[in-house]
Amino acid sequence: PTMNHEVERRRVENTAMEFWFYLRNKLQKLKDKTGGKSDVGVEIDTIIQDSTAYQKTLYKDFWKLRTVDGLEKWRQKEADSLGKLVQARFHFLQNPSDCSTAKKIVCNLSKGCGYGCQLHHLVYCMMVGYALDRTLILESKGWRYAAAGWESVFRPLSDTCMERSGRESVHWGAPDRIKDVQVVEMPIIDSLHPRPDYLPLSIPKDISERLIRVNGDPSSWWIGQFVQYLTRPQPHLQKDLDRAQKKLGFSNPCVGVHVRRTDKLAAEAAYHSVDEYMRYVAEYFDKLEMIQEVPERKVFLASDDPSVLPEAKKNYPDYTFISDPSVTLSAGLNKRYTDESLRGVILDIHFLSLCDYLVCTFSSQVCRVAYEKMQTMHGDPSANFKSLDDIYYFGGQNGHYVEVVEEHVKRNSKEIDMEPGDLIGIAGNHWDGNSKGMNRRTGKTGLFPSYKTQNKLTIVDLPEYPEAKV
Ligand code: GDP
Repeated sequence: PTMNHEVERRRVENTAMEFWFYLRNKLQKLKDKTGGKSDVGVEIDTIIQDSTAYQKTLYKDFWKLRTVDGLEKWRQKEADSLGKLVQARFHFLQNPSDCSTAKKIVCNLSKGCGYGCQLHHLVYCMMVGYALDRTLILESKGWRYAAAGWESVFRPLSDTCMERSGRESVHWGAPDRIKDVQVVEMPIIDSLHPRPDYLPLSIPKDISERLIRVNGDPSSWWIGQFVQYLTRPQPHLQKDLDRAQKKLGFSNPCVGVHVRRTDKLAAEAAYHSVDEYMRYVAEYFDKLEMIQEVPERKVFLASDDPSVLPEAKKNYPDYTFISDPSVTLSAGLNKRYTDESLRGVILDIHFLSLCDYLVCTFSSQVCRVAYEKMQTMHGDPSANFKSLDDIYYFGGQNGHYVEVVEEHVKRNSKEIDMEPGDLIGIAGNHWDGNSKGMNRRTGKTGLFPSYKTQNKLTIVDLPEYPEAKV
């Protein structure tokens, strides 16, 4: 299929999904108004049930359209081949033949936050390195999770160049000032000034057509490639992962559920019940059964709250929950910065990303890393998730816009007007048919129907590394 064909095919799926979010929400509200038990309430229930059946059939039809003529095999092959190309470029960039003269970018891990947040810090650094043809030098001794550093679990970022030394070094600054300096030190992304256009959620131009054609969320795929390179496991970690996989009885199909609670609930995210997560797990399996046999409803459950697993097991006996209790426990006790908790979060993210579908909160970096990693592994899994709160984002990203494709005239004070071609800075999706954002033309912030817009990608010119050997 051509790129445009794939873009349009995914758009139809997306519109159908937004239509369903809208309808279900409105019907539910209407039912609540009638008190539920009235004749009209019962009638509305029937409509919701019938519509759910339509949705399942639509899912099957979309699946057929997606896989017809062996297209799914092509998708997997193409995504793998593009991934290999990008990884070869990273390898080339990270292994200069002469480290003493190579241009470098230095980044350190002494960022006071969790594993996902620190990993994203490295992703951003390496992305800047890629854009400027600079080898990333990682300073990670004294890391809060493992004092010996990053290499105690992950493979070194380079075989030839781990030293930061160079003729001169400066802090990040204007392109002219840093251009010819051998070593550039990076701040955290929030303090970056000036801010280049190649930060997330941008994608590189030279692979953009192939990437847009094969994956519905090219930005996360590109970020996922950095995650993949940075977290290549040391042999002992690989063995640990393989052993854990056997011990847990992990296999596909499987839904990954991440329930983030404890400290996160203080200021950053809202509480969500186990039932809320499980509603979407059930919905996914109901749909999956339309296209394949599901002998067992497997759920890989990760959480920093140890009460989640027993509750889920008790209330959902028809599901098989797999979870590493030692892992969950260490996270729950909030011994967050030890070798044990590092192992815990690495294993949890690994298995979440191996699942076919994710239910979690994108406000959590753990969940976003799992989603990014997932993008690099299974063809096009860009729609295989349900976030209970935010849409996907990268902390400190450049503006994320959607482009208006259909006019909208506001119907109440909460909504905004839109004209085709307007750019809306998107703040979130309410998962009820509406999104929220700011219209750049009018300066007004408010709700608008998501289906009248489409994602606007930032495509940037970056080095192509033709010397990299695939
Ligand atoms: P965020 O705070 O959820 O956005 O993500 P961070 O990765 O920045 O910080 C949260 C930290 O809490 C993680 O890095 C882990 O150390 C711990 N944590 C949170 N959720 C889990 C989980 O499901 N499993 C494990 N093992 N650890 C978790």
